[in-house]
Parts: sequence; C-alpha cells; structure tokens
Amino acid sequence: MDYFSGYIRTLVEQLSLLPGIGAKTAQRLAFYLISQPKEKVDRLAQAMTDARNHVRYCRTCCTLTDAEACPICADSRRDHSQIMVVETPGDLAAYEKTGKYKGVYHVLHGAISPMLGVGPDDIRLKELMTRLHGDVSEVIIATNSSLEGETTAMYISKLIKPTGIRVTRIASGVPVGGDLENIDEVTLLRALDGRTDL
Ligand code: ZN
Repeated sequence: MDYFSGYIRTLVEQLSLLPGIGAKTAQRLAFYLISQPKEKVDRLAQAMTDARNHVRYCRTCCTLTDAEACPICADSRRDHSQIMVVETPGDLAAYEKTGKYKGVYHVLHGAISPMLGVGPDDIRLKELMTRLHGDVSEVIIATNSSLEGETTAMYISKLIKPTGIRVTRIASGVPVGGDLENIDEVTLLRALDGRTDL
C-alpha cells in the first residue's frame, strides 16, 4: 500500500481489523470517510469513543448498557423469575423486538466451543449460576442451534438440573446453525412457545 499516504494506510489498516471487513471494503470505507464533511466524521469518531468509554455490562444479566442495571433488569413489570439465556446482546434484541417475552435475560457473550478453545469459564456462566440463588422458576436456554449453541445448552442444563429449577430449550424451527439475530419474529415466538423441558 505504498501508493497511499501514511494516514490513509493507517485508516485502511484499522478498518480492516473490524469483523467482516476485508481489505477492499476497508479501502472503500476509508475513501468514503475522507470524502465526508469533517463534522460528520467527528461525530462518528466521538460515538465510537463514547460507547467504548461508557458502555458496560449490566451487573445482573451481563448485557451491554450505560448504567449499572440495564433497562430490562431495572423494569419491575418484567417477570424476574424467568431467565432467558442468549449468546449475544443482539440475540436479546431479537427477542425484545417481538415484544412478547416478559421475563428477563442472561447474556453469555459467546458459546462453549472446544474446537476454538472457548470453555465454560470464558463465557458469563458463573454470573448466571449466581443468579439462580434468587427466586428463579425457569431458565429458558435460547442459545443458537449451532454445534456450539447446543453444546452450551447441554452444559448449562446439566449444571442447573440438580438445583431443581425448570430448564427449557427453545424449539427447533430456528434453522440449524442459524443466528437468532437473523431470524424473523414469528419463528422466534414459535420457538419460544414450543420450548421443551430438558
Ligand atoms: Zn440486565
């Protein structure tokens, strides 16, 4: 990339480190940013810095939020005895968009994957187990139907079973290997309604 100036080269390099952004896209984004009004680029840079500096994990459900407790955990109208376990904040958002689920969540930030070297201690599982000491009637496991998601579901169910708390798994209908984020609301609700005991 010697034909680019140092600033452009650095920008392209930084953008290409983002997930899903290859060298070509990074270059296109860099040229786009440079062509934009300075204020617009400043706003983008500021939004990234602010989000990184101020967003943290909810102390209860571990989703990303601005405050100590996320809006869902802080909402007394939700059923705090029903916990839906998801892999990412994006999966939580997918179920929230349906507007039908009234329980609360637990975000693992990943899934167990022996192949990728991700173990139970690498996801927010300890935090989930701590919550079970409270008043919990059901844990709905809504991890993805990928190999990692299924492995995680089985692992969690084995951990929780001895506590006597009801453990359920959302129904298939969610396509195998599918990310919850990309699934339509009707399918998500059908998967929730058709959940089975583990
Ligand atoms: Zn929360």
